Amino acid sequence: MTSFSNQDIADVLNKVAIVYQLQNENRFKIIAYQQAAEVVSTCTQSIYDLWKEGNMQDINGIGTTIANHLQEYFTNKESSYFWKTIAQVPQSVFLLVNIPGIGPKRAYKLVTHLHLDNPTTALADLQTAIENNEMSQMEGFGEKSQQQLLENLELYTKQSSAEKRMILPFAQKVAHQLLQYLTLHPQVIQCEPLGSLRRHIETIGDIDIVLVADEKYFSTIIDYIAVYPSCLRVDNKGSKKISIIVAPHIRVDIRLTTLKTYGTMLQYFTGSKMHNIRLREYAQKKNLSLSEYGITDKKTGIQHTFEKEELLYSFLKLEYISPLLREGTDEITRAQEHTLPTLVSLKDIRGDLHVHSNFPIQTSHDVGANSFTTLLNKAKQLGYTYIGFTEHNPRSKESANQVISLLQKRRLQAQRELTNTPITYFLGLEVDIRPDGTLALYDEAIEQLDYVIVSIHSSFRMDQKSATARVLKALSYPKVRIFGHPTGRKIGERDGLSLDWKQIFPLCRKRNIALEINAWPQRLDLPDVLVRQAIQAGVRCIINTDTHALIDMDNMHYGITVAQRGWCEKKNIVNTLPENEFRRWILNK
Ligand SMILES: [Zn+2]
Ligand SMILES: [Zn+2]
Repeated sequence: MTSFSNQDIADVLNKVAIVYQLQNENRFKIIAYQQAAEVVSTCTQSIYDLWKEGNMQDINGIGTTIANHLQEYFTNKESSYFWKTIAQVPQSVFLLVNIPGIGPKRAYKLVTHLHLDNPTTALADLQTAIENNEMSQMEGFGEKSQQQLLENLELYTKQSSAEKRMILPFAQKVAHQLLQYLTLHPQVIQCEPLGSLRRHIETIGDIDIVLVADEKYFSTIIDYIAVYPSCLRVDNKGSKKISIIVAPHIRVDIRLTTLKTYGTMLQYFTGSKMHNIRLREYAQKKNLSLSEYGITDKKTGIQHTFEKEELLYSFLKLEYISPLLREGTDEITRAQEHTLPTLVSLKDIRGDLHVHSNFPIQTSHDVGANSFTTLLNKAKQLGYTYIGFTEHNPRSKESANQVISLLQKRRLQAQRELTNTPITYFLGLEVDIRPDGTLALYDEAIEQLDYVIVSIHSSFRMDQKSATARVLKALSYPKVRIFGHPTGRKIGERDGLSLDWKQIFPLCRKRNIALEINAWPQRLDLPDVLVRQAIQAGVRCIINTDTHALIDMDNMHYGITVAQRGWCEKKNIVNTLPENEFRRWILNK
């Protein structure tokens, strides 16, 4: 049975609008199609289902003509008016219009002139054509616009590969809402996320969920899932599994299991693939075979199933392995030796040292939204015993004296606001590392501070050697205690700097500088793999939220999971230290 997702329909409407633009159709007609596409893609109900139920007239923003064409499209599919319209234009055009700066007419020109007929290779072919200077004869594509096009093309290719995944908090929100709905069903005993979501990977593709119930209720529960209000359509339905597409367009696979096999299922579908491969190899040596249904003794043929994951691991004579460590590195060997780390947890954290207040410091970056008092009270609420305020450095046009006086004013303001507080506060700054590695702050001004976070906020295009030299220089300044969001990456937006950590770790260790694990969900920087390397090199980390608004202080747990995935124990994280020890570290005394 054919089904049409809202996204499919919106794509078709957008394509028709593009064809009309190329054919110089009436402007209002074009706008009507673009608007209809927008309405469809943001609609929370399935347009196709509405049509099947005869309720398409309920949708605002789709005119009669388009509605009629849609009806006909749902019935005639490939022979419909829409398909015939779209077929009038080479299909690569629809791909090229996604590149920033390329409208339908330029896309059409490129496709026809450069013979980009194959949509699957069109983007790569375009890149080759630009690089081979094949566009030099084309009118309207001068050298500068070719360069621009190349840059935009790279940007688009990168972004579209990242777009397929969502950042962790978004996936968690979608999953959380669905889990709430599932647990409302009286026959559902338990449900939990699986896969990358359970392992807290920074970006998530599909969402996987396991649900526990008595087998006799499976079919009623599956029907219940199919009518989940945010479900756009059911993709697949079996007796023990259902796949649905939920708004905005996320695939969710839900597996049903009984309590008896819950642990087996949970372990198997949590992954990672690499972990399960290693586990299977390990089991094979014991003459056992692993599958999603249980562990089979190859000699006797007896299959063991497990209610709890813990029982499965202990059956294999392994220490329980946290899902956050299941990446197929050395966790199985360590579980065998019973030497897995006791992972740091949120309750171990005693302070947040990267918090931007609203003190007007004349910076060229963003300022925070809240006062010292508000932020400190929040820290108290979170059970912290210390906090550090780190506005961005003042902009470069301020003179040394102006900067010093600003910093003195800030200290006075903090003293006035924060008398008799039970929490210790430190006054630092987040200072830019300039491209040459110097700090964007006068040496005399550094003396006014309790500590410095150095961070890179610009000039990310740099080879590894220069980037490393840049960082090493910055880390040599006095009072530098923290290297903020060290790679500078933004998930789905830009890769971080490539740095030679073999040079950076020893300097951090020597100067007792902490590498930040920035808990901002789009940063999560240092990334987990580097966190593990850092602590193996004897460098400590600090988990900070980089708060700009009060609510950001609640993001600490995202940093915690990065630290956990990086095998950190409490001792590896400086902001777990008691206040007196922490004070000695941050003030470098
Ligand atoms: Zn920053
Ligand atoms: Zn910051």
